Amino acid sequence: MPKKQKLQSPVGMSDILPEDQKYFKKIYEIAERIADFYGFLKIDTPIVEDEEVFDKGTGISTDIVRKEMFSFRTKGGDVLALRPEGTPGIARAYIEHGMHSWPQPIKLWYFGPFFRYEHPQAGRYRQFWQLGFEVLGEAGPVIDAQIIQIFYNILKDLKLKDMSVELNSIGDNQCKPYYRKLLTNYLKSRESSLCPECRKRIKENVLRFLDCKEEKCQPIKTEAPQILEHLCDECKAHFKTVLEFLDEIEIPYQLNPYLVRGLDYYTKTVFEISSSIEKEGEGEKKRMELGGGGRYDKLIKTLGGRDTPAFGGAMGVERIIMFMKRQEIEIEETKEVSVFLAQIGDLAKRKCLKLLDQFRKAKISVGESFGKDSLKAQMNRADKLGVRFTLILGQKEALDGTVIIRDMKNGKQEIVKLEKAVQEVREMLKK
Ligand code: AMP
Repeated sequence: MPKKQKLQSPVGMSDILPEDQKYFKKIYEIAERIADFYGFLKIDTPIVEDEEVFDKGTGISTDIVRKEMFSFRTKGGDVLALRPEGTPGIARAYIEHGMHSWPQPIKLWYFGPFFRYEHPQAGRYRQFWQLGFEVLGEAGPVIDAQIIQIFYNILKDLKLKDMSVELNSIGDNQCKPYYRKLLTNYLKSRESSLCPECRKRIKENVLRFLDCKEEKCQPIKTEAPQILEHLCDECKAHFKTVLEFLDEIEIPYQLNPYLVRGLDYYTKTVFEISSSIEKEGEGEKKRMELGGGGRYDKLIKTLGGRDTPAFGGAMGVERIIMFMKRQEIEIEETKEVSVFLAQIGDLAKRKCLKLLDQFRKAKISVGESFGKDSLKAQMNRADKLGVRFTLILGQKEALDGTVIIRDMKNGKQEIVKLEKAVQEVREMLKK
């Protein structure tokens, strides 16, 4: 018989173990607090969509659709895809629920898992979590600055250090086609010196050349025409105002003429936030992206809705956690346990189960080790939890209908009626 292989989670997808849940919780809480403050409402879209939503939205020639999407045919014959990113699903929901008739703009945020068929490595997985913010129905540059500010503030509230914001404008339907043509002509004249991927990009997604990391393409990149010099007046004015707002709110940024973010739907402003991280075991630092986004004024129309300007972005939760760990950012555990319930014997255990529920109803936090029989082991646990009082229910007390309340600070003990225990403890905790 062949040796049975051990079952494991799928490649690039991992369990979020209890020890990491505190990071997820903290990031969620901070994102939620900031979302509430800025008036964003939470949305959850399905983790699968019709494949068409991403083909049309993200773009059929983009890497995440062409190479990285998990698609499948259902028993009924529909072709669905695990969502590789959040924005097209939200745009689909905006159209489907007629949100254009709600008071504009629509400000939404989300927090959930996403899927990309990538080559797994540190900070890059096949299932990962993102939190995202989107504003739909607002064309003004103030929104661009506000979303960048929100992302920056979330990371700051998480105490992340060494962040930088990079910005670019990639134009709109007026100036982008002209720039694309200019770049295509430039690259065609140097085609033989380009890497094989960029040779393909000339035909399929020419702007992607600008963020090619291949050594070979770097000198060609430096000489390439820059989009910022070819923006139409409207895009130029929009971008200038975004920069003025960022100056005003004191968000430090750098212009990066090579930032394009590869997805089809971006127009005008695009941004990325990164921080530096030491390469494992190498001591050398490199920058790693934590999040990014941009304006997508044409996406909703492309998906069948009305012409609706919008701006949004997303950050990777595992990446943020990776940085928090490397930067040794501690998370205080806020759960405080006030009381411990110790029991000896079956009758006492039964009575303790009931008592525990009475404490829950009274909203008093309680620790217990009902699985342990030894009083010593239970008292050790109570010490570890740092509780103020331990309630001890032995065989005698269980029969008498009483319980011992032990003050853990001074070791003083008193016996009270079992039915009065919760009330007594409540009073004692107030002192
Ligand atoms: P993107 O939609 O590619 O701009 O991704 C936004 C953010 O999500 C990135 O900055 C990363 O922090 C995170 N992210 C993207 N892809 C992955 C992945 N495969 N694994 C983990 N995090 C990812």
